[in-house]
Amino acid sequence: MRVSYLVLAASAAMVIRAEAQQWPVHSLERPKPPVVNPGPAGPPAPVPADAVILFEGRTLDAWETADSLARPARWKVTDGYMEVAAGTGGIRTRQRFGDVQLHVEWASPKPPRGEGQDRGNSGVFLMGRYEVQVLDSYRSDTYADGQASALYGQYPPLVNASRAPGEWQSYDIVFHRPHFKADGSLERPARVTVFHNGILVHDNVALKGATAHAREATYEAHEDRLPIGLQDHGHPVRFRNIWVRELE
Ligand code: MG
Repeated sequence: MRVSYLVLAASAAMVIRAEAQQWPVHSLERPKPPVVNPGPAGPPAPVPADAVILFEGRTLDAWETADSLARPARWKVTDGYMEVAAGTGGIRTRQRFGDVQLHVEWASPKPPRGEGQDRGNSGVFLMGRYEVQVLDSYRSDTYADGQASALYGQYPPLVNASRAPGEWQSYDIVFHRPHFKADGSLERPARVTVFHNGILVHDNVALKGATAHAREATYEAHEDRLPIGLQDHGHPVRFRNIWVRELE
C-alpha cells in the first residue's frame, strides 16, 4: 500500500510540474501536439447575415497595405481567392475591430516548398498585433509554438489539425481584446479561442502580449479598435471567404 501511494504521489507531482513548466520561446523540446485528421475540406462556409464580409473572392476593396502609406492592397486575386504577392508586404482591413468572431479560409502552396517556418508561412494578425500562425504543418515539422494555428511564440495548438498543401483549411477565431488602464498598464489580457478545420485548438487562452519573434511577448497599450492583418512572409499562401462578426 505504502509503495503504490508513493508512486501515485510521485506521478501527481510530475503532472503539476509539467503544467507549471514555462517553455522557452520556440523551444524545440516543447512537445508537439498530436495529429488529428480533420476530414476532407468542404465548400466555403456559409456567411452569417450579420457578418462584415472582408473578402468574398473578387476584390481587395476592404484591404490596404499594412504600412504607413496604407495604399490599395496588391495581392493577387483570381478564381475566388487572394494569394500573397511576395514582397508587396502585409495587408490589413480598412475597417477596425475590437472583440470579434473571425472566419478565415486558407490554403498552403502546392506543391510545398521549403521546411519548417519557410513553408507556407503567413498569419492572421488580430488588431495587427496578435498572430494566429498560418503555416504548412502537414507532415512538416517546426517548433511547437510556431506551427499552424499556434498563437505564435506563446501557445502551440492543442492538436495539429492540418490539411495537405492545396486543400482549403479554416480558422474560426473568437477574440476578446486586451483592456488597458488609463496609465497604460494592462487591466486584462486578450483572450483567444481558435478552431482549426472545425477542431478546437485554443480554449479561451490569455495571450501574454503582442506577437514577437524569439523573445517573450509583452503588452503595450493600444486603441480599442484596430485593423485585422494578413502576413506576407514571402510564400504564395491563398485566402478566401473571410468574414467577421463584431462582438462589442
Ligand atoms: Mg506567420
